[in-house]
Amino acid sequence: MATPETRSFDLTIIGSGPGGYVAAIRAAQLGLKTAVVEVAPQPGGTCLHWGCIPTKALLHAAEVYDTARQAQRIGVRCERVALDLDEVHRYKDRTVQANAKGIEFLFRKHGIALLRGRGKLAGAGRVAVDPEGEAPYTVATRHTILATGSAIAELPGVSFDGERVIHSDHALQLKRIPASLLVLGAGAVGVEFASIFASFGSKVTIVELLPRLLPLEDEALGTELEKAFRKRGIACYTGTRVEQVDVHETGVRVTAQRQGTPLTLEAEVLLVAVGRRPRTADLGLEATAVKLERGYVEVDAMMRTAEPGVYAIGDIVPTPALAHVASHEGVVAVEHAATGRARAVDYDKIPSCTYCNPEVASVGLTEARARERGYEVRTGSFPFSASGKARILDDMRGFVKIVAEARYHEILGVHIVGPHATELIAEATAALELEATTEALFHAVHAHPTLAEAMAEAALGVHGRSIHV
Ligand code: FAD
Repeated sequence: MATPETRSFDLTIIGSGPGGYVAAIRAAQLGLKTAVVEVAPQPGGTCLHWGCIPTKALLHAAEVYDTARQAQRIGVRCERVALDLDEVHRYKDRTVQANAKGIEFLFRKHGIALLRGRGKLAGAGRVAVDPEGEAPYTVATRHTILATGSAIAELPGVSFDGERVIHSDHALQLKRIPASLLVLGAGAVGVEFASIFASFGSKVTIVELLPRLLPLEDEALGTELEKAFRKRGIACYTGTRVEQVDVHETGVRVTAQRQGTPLTLEAEVLLVAVGRRPRTADLGLEATAVKLERGYVEVDAMMRTAEPGVYAIGDIVPTPALAHVASHEGVVAVEHAATGRARAVDYDKIPSCTYCNPEVASVGLTEARARERGYEVRTGSFPFSASGKARILDDMRGFVKIVAEARYHEILGVHIVGPHATELIAEATAALELEATTEALFHAVHAHPTLAEAMAEAALGVHGRSIHV
């Protein structure tokens, strides 16, 4: 067998997150001899170990806990409902482990070499691998994909101690529920943790600089979510600028300004969720033509960098930092490397899901963005309060909102807050991909009673024809 020094591959991928591992499988399907270099003990990246999967496991535990406590409302008595946090962590860790083993299995099945160690570019057609405790080596490769993901962004002047001031990795491992939690940042990560810890019993406060929760979503979603969060007892300070963070023995004091009014907030623990930064340091980029813009790798629609044979995908490129985006970009890069052509990702049709309670999901253009693009816009909304299925589920919060253009009624965007929003959005994603009109959506017969009926009703709403409102 060849020693590592003499090994050569058609494609070498640095990083095994949802960008890297999906790219590797697609490459193997296309007959490329493929290697993945990974510095972490297991494949799967941020998504599997510190992001999508463990957070959703905690959110599921929170949902079951809430459901059990509220079950009496529908005549199901659950006595002595209690949260066993150690067991919740074991369930979360089991889930992560099972998925990591799944990726290792898929790598073996497809003959993909998993090279353990830190990878970097080492001259044209070469990748250096530095395994911990072993001698570094290089492999020869025809193509390379950089898929090294992102790392936690710090708030200037605030350092993480893992106890009083924490980030999302710490929050996933907290061994006790803080009496009070202040969450800084109301993006998806911030509101998901706010939702988890509110269910688990913390008194939660969210502080966000921008005027709404989930500020990148359609305005109606953030407003509705804030209403629902307030009802759950989560305090929301939007449009609020944090000026100082003081850590003391029993907690954290945050001094802020809200519309010119000073504000002091106290909590046992501060969770900083202000975003992530691309991991592009120490990748050997200096000696290449790869261009960086604010730390992100610049790529074209085929995910090519300016260095011949080198692609970049996922959180290190300036596209939405989502697992499914990373995966699709991986497929584009591989198909381009293998065949010289690929279908580019359409960033206007990326679903975005936030798994808080209530859930939020969207795809396509917000109403504001559609107007900015010059469309004459028509909208239709349907509240879950008028949905038979939502009433059965005893959860009538939220709505479906459809943004369409006035001429052909093509659907431009769908925005949902409410039960199972993150599953419902799949129909909207397919509708956008198929360039469906509102007519097509409401002519498609939706089964009764389902939450998906709200989608057809919102499409009817664009024409002032909703049946149940
Ligand atoms: P990553 O998943 O970050 O993987 C990069 C890999 O590269 C890592 O395994 C890393 O160890 C490895 N690596 C880095 N440098 C090197 C090197 N030099 N050599 C070898 N290996 C290296 N997205 C969603 O779509 N849905 C969600 O619900 C969701 N929830 C999230 C929750 C949280 C708390 C966080 C933090 C993120 C969440 N995300 C979610 C975002 C998602 O995790 C990322 O968009 C996704 O992981 C990006 O994939 P990637 O392949 O680009 O990078």
